[in-house]
Amino acid sequence: MSIRNWFIALVNRLFSLREMLHSLPLLLSGLASWVMTWSKHQMACDCFLCGAASGNVLLCAACDEGLPYLTDQRCPQCALPGVDARQCGACLREAPYFDATHALWTYDFPVNRMIQSLKFSCRLANADFFGMALARLASMKSGAVNQLEHDRALPSDSLPDFILPVPLSAERLAARGFNQALEVARQLSQQTGVPLMRYDVVRQRNTMPQSRLPWKARVKNIRHAFDCQMDLTSKTVWVVDDVMTTGATLNELARTLKAHGAARVENWVLARTLKHE
Ligand SMILES: [Zn+2]
Ligand SMILES: [Zn+2]
Repeated sequence: MSIRNWFIALVNRLFSLREMLHSLPLLLSGLASWVMTWSKHQMACDCFLCGAASGNVLLCAACDEGLPYLTDQRCPQCALPGVDARQCGACLREAPYFDATHALWTYDFPVNRMIQSLKFSCRLANADFFGMALARLASMKSGAVNQLEHDRALPSDSLPDFILPVPLSAERLAARGFNQALEVARQLSQQTGVPLMRYDVVRQRNTMPQSRLPWKARVKNIRHAFDCQMDLTSKTVWVVDDVMTTGATLNELARTLKAHGAARVENWVLARTLKHE
């Protein structure tokens, strides 16, 4: 190869390299959009737990049925399982501020993994599934079974005035980037048409995570943590949270809402931790 030919070949190579570099962002964005479409497709079609085809829902019917659903044999006020559906001894001795607790599951595998993956891996598709499951529970409680499938409306007399996700402190929100309870409550609000309370109740100080404290210290830790800037006289509020453990946080929130006039406060939680676990 003469020096001239070698030089022309080198220039050609450099040009094609430059073209490749120029088109790199386009290639990357094409690849990203393909990955997004692919992952959406995966989310839409594969059961989160077993990988089987599940249509456009998070779990296939078999895995959904296998979740640790709570039965009706539990205290209506705090949702702890008992021998019947009457108030438990603890609620009779010292009634909590909230009037009722509705919980879908016990906080066991695989529900714990599903909630953790929403919270710590930002799997927001799980929040939609959870919100829909709460809406189904609300529909069943109101006696309007399957009504959601027809017109997405529950009887208005069974619905509250507001849905309130348990607020996170500003610090916790900044660290996590989103409030998992809000993401679940958003779907419940969409399904029921009940407005969300997003900015009217705030967590005014960053409390220690309740899970790191002994049971008795939790009440003290959460005391006066919330502030409500709304008159709730004679209103009913549904409070949405992911996991209920001692109920100290939910009780303090209910105390705050009642102090601002709320007539009735119900907890709507995904999972209930059983006592002494
Ligand atoms: Zn499955
Ligand atoms: Zn109870």
